[in-house]
Amino acid sequence: MTSPARQHTYTTPHYRLSLVRDRTVRYQAPSLCCADTAALALAALLGDAPGERLVVAYLDNHLRVMGTETIAMGGQTGCGGSLPELFRGAVLIGARAVILAHNHPSGSSEPSDRDAAMTAAAVQAGQLLGIEVLDHFVVGDSDAYGIVSKTVVKLPRQQQPPPTEGTPNA
Ligand SMILES: [Zn+2]
Repeated sequence: MTSPARQHTYTTPHYRLSLVRDRTVRYQAPSLCCADTAALALAALLGDAPGERLVVAYLDNHLRVMGTETIAMGGQTGCGGSLPELFRGAVLIGARAVILAHNHPSGSSEPSDRDAAMTAAAVQAGQLLGIEVLDHFVVGDSDAYGIVSKTVVKLPRQQQPPPTEGTPNA
């Protein structure tokens, strides 16, 4: 009889993934069913972040908000946010749909080529995962642009003085 070969034992961490409630945020709509309410809620969530910030709202079957998360924070030139980062929380929370938003410190709501490419990739990835990417808003000073819905939503933003363009005789 031969004795069984001595076997090595290896160890690896065994994980349990969980979402941790960071804080509570307020929003003004029972569901984010249309571009207007979604843009307003996400713009409020972004607030007056000094640099670029990417946030996501997780939605249930009835487009009610299950939670929100800040996916990435950056400087004046962009905030990134990879597809795994975008969907990690949505998968954990069991979201049926998501709406993304990021601000442009420049104040312009015009999406960059990178914004458009990231949105297209997210929509595609969401289709595979069964998590619909309803929209991705680029939030500027006075309005937000939905890249998916191609909708411009006026924002009742901070009481900043309007830009002084074309001031006559000034
Ligand atoms: Zn952008």
